[in-house]
Amino acid sequence: MEIKQAEFVLSAPDLKHCPEEKVAEYAFIGRSNVGKSSLINMLVKKKGLAKTSSTPGKTQLINFFKINESWMLVDLPGYGYAKVAKSMKGKFHKIITNYVSKRENLVNLFVLIDCRHAPQRIDLDFMEWLGEEGIPFSIVFTKVDKVSSTVLQKNLSHYKKEMLKVWEEMPVNFISSSTSEIGRLELLNYIGRINESLVGKFN
Ligand code: GDP
Repeated sequence: MEIKQAEFVLSAPDLKHCPEEKVAEYAFIGRSNVGKSSLINMLVKKKGLAKTSSTPGKTQLINFFKINESWMLVDLPGYGYAKVAKSMKGKFHKIITNYVSKRENLVNLFVLIDCRHAPQRIDLDFMEWLGEEGIPFSIVFTKVDKVSSTVLQKNLSHYKKEMLKVWEEMPVNFISSSTSEIGRLELLNYIGRINESLVGKFN
């Protein structure tokens, strides 16, 4: 899929301020600094669309970008560092859980994981919660340019091993690099295929 147009629609402080329009939404989420803004900018090839390196925890807004006048890319607030409370409920701002579990337009959530790090409890718990809630999601391992291919393979298999302790199979997953555009076409084609399967579901 080609991106011909990408425009900022609005920033919503909560679920009720999200756009009323019924179009497919693909949301991106991950811990602060995981590379979410860079990935969004890389996907749409617009450097300043999503803001990069904002102060962690400051941007508690849901940002909507309309793509090709037909679907939305949604930038969710980054979730916090390890110091937040242990339970799943305490970890996430209500804005995230509300959007993720109640937004009817959401067709897929991309959970971003920094490929350099060992599996983190906060991400694993979040994905478990997504599974319990029946929310469709995929994983994007970011910043793959920062490690050698050997280390990447090692880290990915470590991650898969950890996931398979809980999951019957590994969720759909991608690798990405915002500096070298690795993963761009794979992610866009994946979105394109889902869009095709949704014809008639949204306006
Ligand atoms: P966010 O907080 O998740 O939105 O993360 P940002 O997109 O602001 O990225 C955090 C930092 O990681 C910034 O300094 C980015 O330049 C850097 N970064 C993000 N993605 C990549 C990547 O794919 N490769 C490299 N080398 N650096 C990246």
